[in-house]
Amino acid sequence: MAKKSGGDIRIVVNLACEECKRKNYSTTKNKRNTQARLELKKYCPWDKKVTLHKETK
Ligand SMILES: [Zn+2]
Repeated sequence: MAKKSGGDIRIVVNLACEECKRKNYSTTKNKRNTQARLELKKYCPWDKKVTLHKETK
């Protein structure tokens, strides 16, 4: 097992589609580097198109 580097806080976040509100993706982010909520354009298999996905808990 590798030692964790000190102070690198990575948290798991879900990315939910803005159109259908489904949680299609999960990712991790570094809480120290990324204070703002994530917003990514990703393909939604439910809408069958690329939509905006926002971080949600
Ligand atoms: Zn969707």
